[in-house]
Amino acid sequence: MIPHVFVKPHEDVRILHGHPWVYDNEISHTSKDFNPAAEETQGMDVAVFSAKNQLLGTGFYNPKSHIRVRLFTRKEEQCTKELIESRIAQALGWRSQYLPHDTQSYRLVFGESDNLPGLIVDVFQRAWISMQILSAGMERNKQTVIDALVAACKPQGIIERSDAPVRALEGLPMYSGVVYGSVPETITIEENGLQFAVSLYEGQKTGWFLDQKANRRLVASYAQGRTVLDVFCNAGGFALNCLKAGAASVVAVDSSDYAIAAVKENAQLNGLEKGLETICANAFDVLRSLPKESYEYIILDPPAFAKNRASVRQALRGYKEINLRAMRALKRGGLLASFSCSYWIKRDDFLYMLNGAAADAGVTVKVIHELRQDIDHPVRLGYDESFYLKGFLMEIQRE
Ligand code: SAH
Repeated sequence: MIPHVFVKPHEDVRILHGHPWVYDNEISHTSKDFNPAAEETQGMDVAVFSAKNQLLGTGFYNPKSHIRVRLFTRKEEQCTKELIESRIAQALGWRSQYLPHDTQSYRLVFGESDNLPGLIVDVFQRAWISMQILSAGMERNKQTVIDALVAACKPQGIIERSDAPVRALEGLPMYSGVVYGSVPETITIEENGLQFAVSLYEGQKTGWFLDQKANRRLVASYAQGRTVLDVFCNAGGFALNCLKAGAASVVAVDSSDYAIAAVKENAQLNGLEKGLETICANAFDVLRSLPKESYEYIILDPPAFAKNRASVRQALRGYKEINLRAMRALKRGGLLASFSCSYWIKRDDFLYMLNGAAADAGVTVKVIHELRQDIDHPVRLGYDESFYLKGFLMEIQRE
């Protein structure tokens, strides 16, 4: 029997509208067979009911997390091997249906959006897998997940990168290591016809930012003949796509030595060193020191400035600062691709911030494209947290 958890009156509304989480303060009581504070409940399956005894679904329980239950189904059913296998098959189906067919590296599982709460799986060159576990329930089912991935993808190796700080909020220890087969120190991945050397051991997050791959292609498609500044370049995703697309020159900026070394290596790998300059420095300083109207294309892809609700105002000031500087540094007719990967910065607030930056910079801005995370990071309606990456590609107009 699956233990039952009951939410307080009205707390079912958000869940019935598709949200997959139950917070600690929303629970009124549990069935008698279940001690909600016991250590051993961490990661157990529990069925969730409304105050009127209506079934809301089954999820992973975690007494240590503010997110007390993460639903993986709207039925009353246990998280079995079969369920995990069918979720992974569904996730594969989505990617093969909607991603370009020659995509070699993609996100196969995007947590709650794929009904596998707290599981992130990235596939590289259809050969290696980097996975991240961010919920106690997935931690319990780890071996089943690994077996299911091996069966579905037949990878050469799987590395687990469960070293994200959010693990602490779930009461889970940090872990990182190869959990199946073998994974070379460096692998070469192919994206938009370019080669990138990626370390699944050292790279940030799971190793490579797959969420920007379609945007890199689109942004680069306007780069021909332009002088480009790629700020927060990491391993050079945007920079190299722009060079390949015929940019007149690209300056790539990142504060991490590791990232700048990767940009150089990747430029070499693709024979694109000519026209590339790298700067290892704080982006705020670089942007502040730019002469007026000195570039024809600027890309701003910063890390999440807001990590929680409390830091939103401060973060918006940071976003405004970099966008304002970039707008000043752009020539008439110049292009600005500006992103925010913070869930806490809502699309409309981001747009409002851009408008403020434009007013202060004394420019008129027209939007060419609105951008978001790639299709393999599905946005799920009712689960706002899944829509995190927003961007605008804009033209800067001067009188
Ligand atoms: N555009 C990249 C992803 C950027 S991730 C891509 O397409 O793959 C954000 C990057 O910002 C990281 O590489 C990080 O090292 C860098 N970064 C963070 N703070 C910074 C700062 N203050 N100045 C410059 N770079 C910074």
